[in-house]
Amino acid sequence: MNREQRRAAARNKSKPATGARTDERFTWFADNAAKLAPYEPAPNATCPDCGAVIDIEAKRLTHENGCPIYASDQAASDDDRAWFRAHPGVTLRRRTPTMGEIQQQMLMAGMTLPDLNTDVIYVPGGEVVVHFVADDVRLRNFSGCMLLARFGGGGC
Ligand SMILES: [Zn+2]
Repeated sequence: MNREQRRAAARNKSKPATGARTDERFTWFADNAAKLAPYEPAPNATCPDCGAVIDIEAKRLTHENGCPIYASDQAASDDDRAWFRAHPGVTLRRRTPTMGEIQQQMLMAGMTLPDLNTDVIYVPGGEVVVHFVADDVRLRNFSGCMLLARFGGGGC
């Protein structure tokens, strides 16, 4: 582990919960499982870019190939996978969300996406907390994310 990896590990180290399992990779579940229980997506969730419609049974919005929201969301997921592979033993990552991740979460919640083709500048803010579960299984917590808007020449 190089210096950058050690710094990342220290910054993202999760603390085992009281009474949690001793396996470092699974201690997080002991106290936090309820927070990540599958939520009910909006019944009318539809992607404005590719027209994908929510599958309520699967709780999944499957975008068409080439959809920019999907591409951004998938790129973030791929980056998380690579990051955890580069930081073995680390089980928690905090990072800024991508626009696609925020748009995906807004769609799943039934929210209308902002028009990105105006003079309002939208910037992803807050942080995504990514939990490593297994080699190809991660959970992303978006509760700390926000979409910042700056209007015209003024601040937000
Ligand atoms: Zn889409």
